[in-house]
Amino acid sequence: MSDTLQTLGILGSGQLGRMIAIAAAQLGIRSVVFAPDAAGSPAADVAHAIITAPYDDKAALDAFALQADAVVTEFENVPADTMAYLGQSALVCPGADALRVAQNRIAEKTLARELGIGVPDFWAVTSADELADALVALNGRGIVKTTTLGYDGKGQIAVDSTSDAKTVWEALGTHQAILEAFVSFSHEVSFLVWRTKDGETGCFPAAENQHKNGILAQTIAPAPSLSPDLYEAGSAAAIKIADAVGLEGVLAMEAFITKDGTILFNEIAPRPHNSFHWTIEGCETSQFTQLVRIACGLTPGSTAARATFTMDNLLGEHMGDVPALLNRAGVSVHLYGKAESRTGRKMGHATWQSGH
Ligand code: AMP
Repeated sequence: MSDTLQTLGILGSGQLGRMIAIAAAQLGIRSVVFAPDAAGSPAADVAHAIITAPYDDKAALDAFALQADAVVTEFENVPADTMAYLGQSALVCPGADALRVAQNRIAEKTLARELGIGVPDFWAVTSADELADALVALNGRGIVKTTTLGYDGKGQIAVDSTSDAKTVWEALGTHQAILEAFVSFSHEVSFLVWRTKDGETGCFPAAENQHKNGILAQTIAPAPSLSPDLYEAGSAAAIKIADAVGLEGVLAMEAFITKDGTILFNEIAPRPHNSFHWTIEGCETSQFTQLVRIACGLTPGSTAARATFTMDNLLGEHMGDVPALLNRAGVSVHLYGKAESRTGRKMGHATWQSGH
């Protein structure tokens, strides 16, 4: 650590870590990446240093904290205890409380409901019998999700009141799950709030998202279907959550817009989010730069959109399209440098100004 050169610690080594490190480098800030699989990872390619160690390795965490002026996490399943431990010696974004809530689907929906934010009906279940009772109460279509560690539609089963609870429970293979009423939505949207350690907050323009097989396929932003009133309501909800968990950094809130025009909370992620990758080209300050600025104690930037942008995720099966995309004027292609391409694996994304 030197007096003039700042070093940002990044927990996690995937594409979000890579784009955080790139944003940091633009501000003259070095990155050190800590992850169990840091070696050869997307983030390692662009970092100043890496530490390859498990998240509960205290000696390795001490060495990491010594190098880093501030620490951010690129994924929410870093143990909250790791964040709390690092928090004793460095500024950590988002902070252990935000991680704890976001790691548990029941905790995040309960918090949203307590804050007066609309959520789909849900039941916490810990056995096949409890699921059977909840299915009776549901009386319609629903989705059962594992409470922790689910992402991109993984750990989810569509059900209805006639589903056999025992079969579903066994297929889920978990000790705790959440049954949610199926939301017949007209649109899926996401909000991104930023918050400094002094409690200053703001929201990016919202994003409108299309998923395929539970994975984000396309985002258009600022969300064309969202009325100004709904944007205000969603942003206010995201800020309430950020304040409640004492967020430092950025936090995404995914939500449904129902057919009768109300917002229902789905989940939060206290980190940069796939549906805001368009902010690299599309906003005056990107989600990655804003996180770096907040973590490193720099002034937050304007998050005004420059225009309407579209972002397509490039999954393994889309890699054949990359040469054509590279030839298209106005398209910004981002590839994450992953060694192995697989169907459904996020390999990169492409952003362009809508209408171009
Ligand atoms: P999640 O992991 O909770 O973000 O779920 C992945 C995707 O499944 C969401 O983006 C929605 O497209 C769909 N989904 C999740 N929960 C519900 C729900 N309660 N009702 C309808 N669709 C849902």
